[in-house]
Amino acid sequence: MVAALDASKVQITKTTTPKEKLPNDQLVFGKTFTDHMLEIEWTAEAGWGTPKISPYHNLSLDPSTCVFHYAFELFEGMKAYRDKDNNIRTFRPIKNMERMNKSAERIALPTFDEEELLKLIDQLILTDESFVPQGAGYSLYLRPTMIGTTASLGVGTPDKALIYVIASPVGPYYGTGFKPVALEATDYAVRAWPGGVGNRKLGANYAPCILPQLEAAKRGYQQNLWLFGEEGYITEVGTMNVFFAFKNADGTKELVTAPLDGTILEGVTRDSIIQLCQEKLSSEWTVNERKFTMAEVKERADKGELIEAFGAGTAAVVSPIKIIGWKGEDIEVPLAAGDSGELTKSVAEWIRAIQYGEVEYKDWSRVAK
Ligand SMILES: *Cc1c(COP(=O)(O)O)cnc(C)c1O
Repeated sequence: MVAALDASKVQITKTTTPKEKLPNDQLVFGKTFTDHMLEIEWTAEAGWGTPKISPYHNLSLDPSTCVFHYAFELFEGMKAYRDKDNNIRTFRPIKNMERMNKSAERIALPTFDEEELLKLIDQLILTDESFVPQGAGYSLYLRPTMIGTTASLGVGTPDKALIYVIASPVGPYYGTGFKPVALEATDYAVRAWPGGVGNRKLGANYAPCILPQLEAAKRGYQQNLWLFGEEGYITEVGTMNVFFAFKNADGTKELVTAPLDGTILEGVTRDSIIQLCQEKLSSEWTVNERKFTMAEVKERADKGELIEAFGAGTAAVVSPIKIIGWKGEDIEVPLAAGDSGELTKSVAEWIRAIQYGEVEYKDWSRVAK
């Protein structure tokens, strides 16, 4: 019988050399890490081994290990927030675990009991509790990762794997207020395609997106707006999902994002925004997951029907868009609230209040204990 993941077996070894903590204003995303990390080894023979929380350390792997050659790697990105009572909370973390298992399944890595990994992540958070910064926009970024660790150049199913989780204290994505971004609509490079793996958080999806970003940057745009197909369907922006808001001739309004057709990463932020908007927006709004094209955006911008646009993801929650470069022309997106649209601003605040435990909403905020 192979063993299931069992959080109750965790062994915790505390550091004897605690790190200096940086002041909030010196936190750089993903550059510094907490004192500890979580690791769980898996083998096909024995299943999941003893979970270990131990001082942050280098990994030692044979150079032939399959992760280095064939990209047996997947990850998650989630955050822990300190509330006013000093509880540490994660935001809909079960969604990250479900997605992590889907990613694992897709590249023949082992799946695990989602609640057990969450209990272990809670233990890591509590062990490094003093690293969770205080203040709006501050949080502890968590990076659950799984790699294949079979030492062999043969291309095949890994018979060994490792889950590890590291944590990095981070500050607000935007120092003060929003910084709306300029995008280049990209059609010469494709992020994801039907039947591909763009809907899974696999490391292999990210390295190929850097060169197109550098190309866009040369022309003065911060991020790529990834288009797909001859129709120019809008899919995602950089590593975020993307939303557009339109007003119709009859005065009704529509919030649109691309449907989960296999080419879109199933963002937790995306899902949260859809649910919150369906519930909170007045009846003049409809919220639609549908295909839409760059040509539609251009046409509606020309008619004055484009109201706002934003990217959505864990890092920034929402990232307002101000310009989209397409076919040699810059389409301007209105910023009615100054640095963003009105809806963009509301959505950011709704989600922030739930993340920091100021508003209880469904079971979206989990207190680590
Ligand atoms: C992680 C990610 C997102 C956003 O997902 P969240 O769960 O909201 O953080 C969107 N698109 C891509 C390509 C991603 O990797």
